[in-house]
Amino acid sequence: MRKNFYLVPELNHMSQEEIRRYQEKKLTKQMKYCYDKSEFYKRKFDDAGAKPEDIMTIDDLRKLPIFMTKDDERRSAEESLQKYGHPFGLHVCAPVEDLYLTGTTSGTTGTPTFSYTFTEKDMNFFGRQIGNRLSMAGVGKGDRVAFFFALGIYATTMTLWGLRGLGALPIDIDARAGTDLLLKFMHLTRPTYLACTPSLAEYLITKCTEVLGKEVKDFHLRGLLTTGEIGIAIPEIKRKLESAYGCRAYDYWAPAGNAPGTSCDSEEYYGLHAIAPDVCTSYDDLVDPMTKEPVDSDVDGAIGEMVHTSLEREACPAVKYAYGDTVQIFTKECPGCGFKGKRAKVIGRADDMLIVKGVNVYPNAIKDIITSYVPDVTGEMRIVLESPPPRVLPPLRLKIEHGKDIGQSALTGLADRISAALHNTLKIRPDIEFVEPGTLPKETRKTPIFEKKYEPK
Ligand SMILES: [Zn+2]
Repeated sequence: MRKNFYLVPELNHMSQEEIRRYQEKKLTKQMKYCYDKSEFYKRKFDDAGAKPEDIMTIDDLRKLPIFMTKDDERRSAEESLQKYGHPFGLHVCAPVEDLYLTGTTSGTTGTPTFSYTFTEKDMNFFGRQIGNRLSMAGVGKGDRVAFFFALGIYATTMTLWGLRGLGALPIDIDARAGTDLLLKFMHLTRPTYLACTPSLAEYLITKCTEVLGKEVKDFHLRGLLTTGEIGIAIPEIKRKLESAYGCRAYDYWAPAGNAPGTSCDSEEYYGLHAIAPDVCTSYDDLVDPMTKEPVDSDVDGAIGEMVHTSLEREACPAVKYAYGDTVQIFTKECPGCGFKGKRAKVIGRADDMLIVKGVNVYPNAIKDIITSYVPDVTGEMRIVLESPPPRVLPPLRLKIEHGKDIGQSALTGLADRISAALHNTLKIRPDIEFVEPGTLPKETRKTPIFEKKYEPK
């Protein structure tokens, strides 16, 4: 079992209580920095009637209102573009000429916000933190990591720093080059790890046979590093990937550079481990996704939207940033690896949440249940929405691909069983429509969960 989870050696000898005191020491200093350096944060503190020096503990921090959502960030970016001619936002704290790396997650839709913007000092700090997280998956000197995301201005770029810091060689292949080229490059360069989205890893299982005439397990990878969507948190997907590739699948995560976490080397999925408490307080600050009222995150099993506050960041620190990810927190020691800090399982985007007859339903929770019926279903599904979420007029409509070997006559019974399972667990009674296997389009980037029947706003 791993002993030292944290990058800063002294943290490895501390109790969770001592780690919290360590975070609090950094917290007040960071709050003061944000107040002094950014007109956005100064305004937010002033509006809340708080002074940065009042924020001495995590509890003080929890009492502050939300300072920023993605919409606020977008507005802040628009304002700074008009006022100062740069898109990094009024919440940027470092002088713009000191920016060293920038990245975004927004792609083709909407105005991108550059949440992944760092100074050189930030990048050195984050690079080492990312390296420490990837070392949870065993990545180290001499490893070759096929890295398949859309690069350039994308958030994933910063992971390359972490890989290089470990002495590993990233083989970065732009996702826009297509999967045929990725497979050919993998064949040539013989990587020991593959980093990509879980849906792409799944897609490659059949694609590899078509393109190279061999199976993905013939790559003899030591691990799969997945990120960007909820994948291996679903037991059926983790099992499928691990058996096809013949290695462990991990996920790693850091929305806007906050809440860094990695899953551990274990048969079962035990969530993202909070192995970077010196980076932010995300695992300790949760709110209800709808009301934004605080939720006690020190209780095992607590569910809420994560609120990010950076503890050591110069360029674009987050302060009370509700980024939109809803998680479930686990506070007990990890049965898989013995990690004693908090763990989190992402259960959905706050803006993906549906409300069916007053009950909060996360699409991922539905998918989790549906995939437990593989091979009677393929695991591909869509939630059909007639009007914009979150409210759904019952019944909730599901389109599910049935498995290739199940006869038409067995489908009614299968629909009844799925429906009963969804009712028992999630209190919804859906309307299920089966479609032929392979008819729901698969995307290499992120496969959508909704089929929207309404006109976008
Ligand atoms: Zn663990």
